[in-house]
Amino acid sequence: MHELSLVMSIIDIAQQHALDADAHLIEEIELDIGTLSSVEMDAFDFAWSQAVKNTLLAGAIRKINRIEGKGTCLDCDAQISLQQVYDVCPQCGSHFINVLSGKEFRVKTLLVS
Ligand SMILES: [Zn+2]
Repeated sequence: MHELSLVMSIIDIAQQHALDADAHLIEEIELDIGTLSSVEMDAFDFAWSQAVKNTLLAGAIRKINRIEGKGTCLDCDAQISLQQVYDVCPQCGSHFINVLSGKEFRVKTLLVS
C-alpha cells in the first residue's frame, strides 16, 4: 500500500525533527497534500491510524491542507484549475500544461514540546 509508505516517511521526518529539537512529544502536525498527488485520503487515514501507534505522533493533532491543482497552459497562457495531472487546457485543448500547484506532499509545520 503506497499510502503506508507515505505515512512512514512522514513519521520519520517528524520524529527526526523532534529528536533534533530535544522534544518528547509532537503536539501538532500540519501537512500539505495536493489534490493532484496520488494520495487516496481514506487509505491515508487508515494507514495513519495504524502507523502512528507507539510513535511520537500517536497523540498529535493532525491538520491537512488540501492544495488545489492549478496550472498554466504553455500554448495559450490560460490559467486553469486541474482535476487531474493530465487534464487538457479548456481554452485551446493543449496537453502542454505547466502544473503550478496540487502535487504537494509535505510536512508544513510541526509543533513539538
Ligand atoms: Zn491553452
